[in-house]
Formats: sequence, C-alpha cells, structure tokens
Amino acid sequence: MSSGSAESYKGSAALPESVIPPVASRFVAGETAAEALERARRLDDRGVGTILNRLGEHYETRADADADAAAYRDLVDDIAGAGVRACVSAKPSQLGLGVSEAVFRENAAEVVGHAAANDVVVWFDMEDHTTTDATLAAYEALAREHGGGVGVCVQANLERTPADLDRLASVPGKVRLVKGAYDEPAAVAHTEKARVNEAYEDCLETMFRDFDGGVAVGSHDPAMIDRAAVLHAEYGTDYEVQMLMGVREDTQYDLAETVDVWQYVPYGGKWLSYFWRRVAERRENLWFALRAILSG
Ligand code: FAD
Repeated sequence: MSSGSAESYKGSAALPESVIPPVASRFVAGETAAEALERARRLDDRGVGTILNRLGEHYETRADADADAAAYRDLVDDIAGAGVRACVSAKPSQLGLGVSEAVFRENAAEVVGHAAANDVVVWFDMEDHTTTDATLAAYEALAREHGGGVGVCVQANLERTPADLDRLASVPGKVRLVKGAYDEPAAVAHTEKARVNEAYEDCLETMFRDFDGGVAVGSHDPAMIDRAAVLHAEYGTDYEVQMLMGVREDTQYDLAETVDVWQYVPYGGKWLSYFWRRVAERRENLWFALRAILSG
C-alpha cells in the first residue's frame, strides 16, 4: 500500500467522519491513519508526542502480518510527510511472530529499516511471556544494526526482567517499563499487585542507574511517576513518561510542561476488543461507557 492509499494522511480538511462511536473514541483515535495523524497534530500542539499503534495482533497467516508491516511502512511515510512528533509501536504477533520467528524478524527489519531512513522510532510492544525471548532478540539485533531508533517494552511482573535489564543496558535503544498486562503463571511472574509495584520500583531504579538514557516510564500510577522524578534528580538520566490515550489526559498535559510525555494512540478497524479491554480493567471506565451508551 503506498502513502497515497485511502488510509494515508491527506490533511485535516479531507478527514472522513469517524465511524467509531463517541464512547470508544475516548481510547481510539479512529479507523484510519488520517484520523490518528490528526490526533498527533493536536497532541503536538499541547507538547505531547504520539506513539501510533495500528490495532492488530495474533495473526496466524503471513499475508495478515505482511499487510500490517506494509501499513506501518506507509504510516512512517505519513508521519514524515506530516512533520508531527510521532513514532510507532507494533505488536510482535502483528508482524508475524505467531506464524514464525523468521517472518517476524523479516517484517520487523523492514519496518525498522524504513523508519530509520525517515528518522522515526519503532517500538515493540511486549506480549505474553512465551514471546519475550524472540521480541528481545529482534529488538537487540535491530537496535545494534541501526545504532538506536528502536524501543522495546519490558514487564515488571515477570521475574526475568531484572536480568533482561542488565543485558539491555548496553543496547543503544529505548526501553519502556510497564507493570504487565498479561495474566501470567506464578512460575514466571509476580502475581500480587503489591509485589508487582515493588518490582516496578526496583526495575525503575536499575534503569535510571545503569542506562545512559532511553528510559520510558509506561505507567499511569502517580507513585511510579513521582518515583521516576526522584530517580532522575538522583542519577540525572533522561527519561520520558508514556500513557495511554483516554487515561489521565489532564495529567499528561500538566506533566508535559516539565517532562517529555508521549501518548500511546491506537487506531484502526480492530478497535472494539481494545475498547472493551480498557473498559474491563477499570470500573470507572465501565460507568463511563454505560452512561454514554444510555444517553445515546
Ligand atoms: P495500575 O497499577 O493499573 O494503577 C495504579 C494507579 O494508577 C491507580 O491506582 C490510579 O491512581 C492510576 N490509574 C491507573 N489507571 C487509571 C485510569 N484509567 N484512570 C485514572 N487513574 C488511573 N503492557 C504490556 O504487557 N505490554 C505492553 O507492550 C504495554 N504497553 C503499554 C504502553 C503504555 C504507554 C502504557 C501506559 C501501558 C502499557 N501496557 C503494556 C499496560 C501496562 O502493563 C499496565 O497494564 C497498565 O499500564 C496499567 O498499569 P499502571 O502502571 O498504569 O497502573
């Protein structure tokens, strides 16, 4: 698909009317790349960078994975053309990890190579623990090949993460620390919330102490964001805060006055399951959704 496709950015004047109902548009920018880029422009005006995620995961055929890799390459062209402060974030299973590690590596290399030529950073989201080795291996190889310009997510709930961080400290890329969104077995993960929070703080300290930069705090938790500010004062390491679209947005704009803030903005036709995941994880979101549905 070329950047002249129906999905590509053509300027806000040509924006189609969104088909996403208002209740879901709190969390998803729209079905098209054009709508996602328009969101990036608005965030740019408020001092917040954008991490664009085309919704899609768990592909079982090479054709599906190749199609999303091509869409990410088009998105990179659109970002470069629009001149907005945006990067992209893809799921490994969206680029073919569920088909084979070789397909994932091929698609990841193509997207990162194209993005590097256009000065756009590519992040890899982290999926469940069975994918961690393959995801970190691809990240490490591509970050070393391109001297940076790539990022990866690691999950504080996994017991392996401190050891992974020791290895990642010498890789020239960026690392986003999150608590972990997958229901993992106790054999490999901390399952109690308090223990996950403790692990998050420990990992954060390791990153601020051992990394030269490229530390991304992927959390909405005020305690973790405050802790990051303290660690920055102590170690001087540069960092950014990353939060999801639709979650604590006023805080994001306030924080952006003093810290580098990036908002993770999903878009695309597969928005319904993402929306329900956001609703399911927090009771307030459920009330918000029901109120919006009932009020028409
Ligand atoms: P929680 O532990 O959920 O909440 C702690 C506190 O934060 C709450 O008590 C409240 O004060 C505040 N808070 C949290 N949510 C809200 C809300 N909706 N509204 C108001 N206050 C709130 N997970 C993965 O496994 N892989 C990934 O690749 C991945 N990428 C991510 C990228 C980004 C940018 C972000 C922000 C998260 C990502 N996650 C990913 C999800 C992550 O693992 C957590 O599941 C998710 O962020 C919830 O944890 P938390 O740290 O935000 O806070």
